Amino acid sequence: MPDVLVVGGGAAGMAAAVFAARSGARVLLLEKNEKLGKKVYITGKGRCNLTNDCSRDEFLSQVPRNPRFLYSALSCLSPRDMMSLLEEAGCPVEVQRGRRVFPRSEKASDVTRALASCLQSAGVRIRLNAEVAGLERSGDRITGVRLAGGEQIPADAVILCTGGLSYPATGSTGDGYRFAADAGHTVLPASPVLVGLETKEDWPRLLQGLSLRNVTLTLSRGKKELYSELGEMLFTHFGVSGPLVLEASCHLPDPPDSASLSIDLKPGLTAEQLDARILRDFAAAGKKLLRSELGTLLPARLAEMFPERCGLPASLPCSQVTAVQRRRLVETLKSLPLAVRVPRPLSEAVVTRGGVSVREIDPATMRSRLIPNLFFAGEVIDVDAHTGGFNLQIAWSTGALAGRSAAGCGRQETCL
Ligand code: FAD
Repeated sequence: MPDVLVVGGGAAGMAAAVFAARSGARVLLLEKNEKLGKKVYITGKGRCNLTNDCSRDEFLSQVPRNPRFLYSALSCLSPRDMMSLLEEAGCPVEVQRGRRVFPRSEKASDVTRALASCLQSAGVRIRLNAEVAGLERSGDRITGVRLAGGEQIPADAVILCTGGLSYPATGSTGDGYRFAADAGHTVLPASPVLVGLETKEDWPRLLQGLSLRNVTLTLSRGKKELYSELGEMLFTHFGVSGPLVLEASCHLPDPPDSASLSIDLKPGLTAEQLDARILRDFAAAGKKLLRSELGTLLPARLAEMFPERCGLPASLPCSQVTAVQRRRLVETLKSLPLAVRVPRPLSEAVVTRGGVSVREIDPATMRSRLIPNLFFAGEVIDVDAHTGGFNLQIAWSTGALAGRSAAGCGRQETCL
């Protein structure tokens, strides 16, 4: 009988299995897919932003809810520890812009390969295509798991690392939420974060595929500013997406359709500077059409429809633009408005918000406060972070701590 059963072979599960085995437990890792770490392969657009090389306080500032829950986990395995672990396993890493850390090869597959080699050298047994259907319980203890085919596997301790509900094709279909709820845990409703936003306006759809660089995106509710950042965004078939929009989605109010967006298309210029430039350019442009002249300030597709966005005729010659119309142009260039309808669905979110309540998990061990030999790690827990490598580090760190604690549990050192 294995001391420790790890359910789910994603980022958290691989870390949990390595640390449990390195702590002396016999470990069996169960993964329902045909391979480990299917989601890791698509992280960072296949490059895997595996962590962020920042201090613990900086890290916690990127975790909008329940940051203190992560103190012990980050002490057990810090971003630097994770970088060393991968380097020692033959996957050199490098720190890039924003202290984001990637494998030097820029191949996510190298991260999974390095972890697979750690699993092997630690002596972890792995069963692929092994879907867990439920936990087996006797009194207040878990006695093992039941596979979808009916097979029962006994264990001293079980670590649930089944992920959330985003990108279900990678295997994260929310099974762990069900297992936790069956075991008596409170599971907070899942909602999408780091996700694209559908807009009430239709015009962004006409610009599908157009990406804007060096713009400032502001998310507000009424007069209250909730988020504002300079960066890159993208128009899509449903509205807007891209790095700035994903970050903004973490700050959506409830209900989401009470939020509005505004894009400053020329953040490097004040309204006065922009007005002076337009005045000069339009004087030189003469009879040239406004929409063509705007092509010097904006991407051609946006310039084409911009007069309409300002309530001006598309075929207005520059020489006929009045001072009032010019002011409207400047205002719209500095603050192009959009109204949020809804975030895109969970299946398209980078991360799931919600999951097993942190109040019922001991942060010093990742052990269930209800069942002494049940542990949790990764996205199945109600904790999420902004982009930048923080979500994967949460999975590695909570996994490492759960693995180490569960190993002690298997040897009856710390279990009740
Ligand atoms: P998962 O990685 O989802 O792993 C859960 C595993 O459990 C899966 O392999 C699943 O098959 C298995 N499983 C589920 N149910 C069962 C069952 N019943 N029986 C057996 N096995 C089961 N974060 C970053 O920090 N940096 C990035 O660059 C980044 N990019 C991302 C890009 C995309 C497109 C997405 C979707 C996410 C990205 N993330 C990124 C987020 C990050 O990938 C996740 O937060 C992280 O993978 C969570 O790890 P996990 O192990 O908890 O869950």
